[in-house]
Amino acid sequence: MAIKITDECINCGACEPECPNNAIYEGGVEWAIADGTSVKGAYTLMDGTVMDADQRNAPLSVDTYYIVPNKCTECQGFHEEPQCAAVCPVDCCVPDEMYQETVDELLGKKAKLHI
Ligand code: SF4
Ligand code: SF4
Repeated sequence: MAIKITDECINCGACEPECPNNAIYEGGVEWAIADGTSVKGAYTLMDGTVMDADQRNAPLSVDTYYIVPNKCTECQGFHEEPQCAAVCPVDCCVPDEMYQETVDELLGKKAKLHI
């Protein structure tokens, strides 16, 4: 499943550069599929919505760093463990129960993001 950042986040910024999918954004910053990925043109999200990879989308949080579930692969295909959770000083990067995904599904997402 995707990882999420709880409101315990102290906004230290340590996690953001560690994410291989550029799935982590500072609060208030708009996100896009194309950031840090090789996706160009139309991209189908997990819920079937199609958006342009360059489309900038509303922040999922304004007060703390946040993770875009459509870009988080739990670091599958890159690292042994979620890198954000590994570096977070307050352990606020935790599994997001809203997004139950198998390892194969996470690897499929990684393959879609990095063609
Ligand atoms: S688990 Fe990995 S892919 Fe997901 S947000 Fe954290 S660093 Fe990025
Ligand atoms: S490493 Fe943890 S505390 Fe620091 S910005 Fe990321 S989620 Fe927040």
